[in-house]
Amino acid sequence: MGSKMVAGNWKMNLDFPTGIDTVSKIVSMLEEMETPDVSVVISPPYIHLEAIQQMTEDFPNIYVAAQDCSGHESGAFTGEVSAPMISSVGAQYVILGHSERRMYHGEDGKLLSEKIRHAFEAGLRPIYCVGEQLQERYDNRQEEVVQSQLEDVLGSLTEEEMNRVVVAYEPVWAIGTGETASAEQAQEMHAFIRSWLGSKFNEDIADSVTILYGGSCKPANAEELFSQPDVDGGLIGGASLGPDDFVKLVEIRDRV
Ligand code: PEP
Repeated sequence: MGSKMVAGNWKMNLDFPTGIDTVSKIVSMLEEMETPDVSVVISPPYIHLEAIQQMTEDFPNIYVAAQDCSGHESGAFTGEVSAPMISSVGAQYVILGHSERRMYHGEDGKLLSEKIRHAFEAGLRPIYCVGEQLQERYDNRQEEVVQSQLEDVLGSLTEEEMNRVVVAYEPVWAIGTGETASAEQAQEMHAFIRSWLGSKFNEDIADSVTILYGGSCKPANAEELFSQPDVDGGLIGGASLGPDDFVKLVEIRDRV
């Protein structure tokens, strides 16, 4: 089992004042609860990163993540934000390969390999997302699809680099749909990812890499999901937008 983590992906939600207000509520609730064994990651839009980093820097188990980074280091790429820029405001993580980036922005293994390289060079830890589409699950091809997403981007990393990656299994059919993978389906895929890590790298890495489940995870279903032996925590979309639900998820992860 990897270390426990709950990461909130705000996507393109919460304007600046609302985002700041949300984080101050999260921070004061976490302060009262004392959950040092759970890493809490907040992934807001880029414009919030610096302010949220400053608000959370005295909390050793709260981290800040960007939702993406450019595949280039700098230059004429209007609208893009580079990994060194993200790291320069103190963020520690970057989400890469989210299914919305793969679907709406055509991100493939080649581009994601460039992004992960830039993330490492800038000292960021990638949260790398994998997951099958609904038809692929109907066709029982979920392991084949996830394995190729793992191979394409993580397959050529060094052991040292792999130790810095968090993997998020997010079945696309469960993201933002209210449809959740059953605890058994999540456990099965997490165990499959660990066995891939074991054969590609080694057993220590297979045991210690943090693997998150994502897809309509919320307080009502988190206990069952988080109690699976290979599920280390969650990458949370919708339920990370409200401080009460998000902190409840941290509390559940701490407890189970
Ligand atoms: C996500 O986008 O990473 C996600 C898991 O979203 P939701 O929790 O809303 O399904």
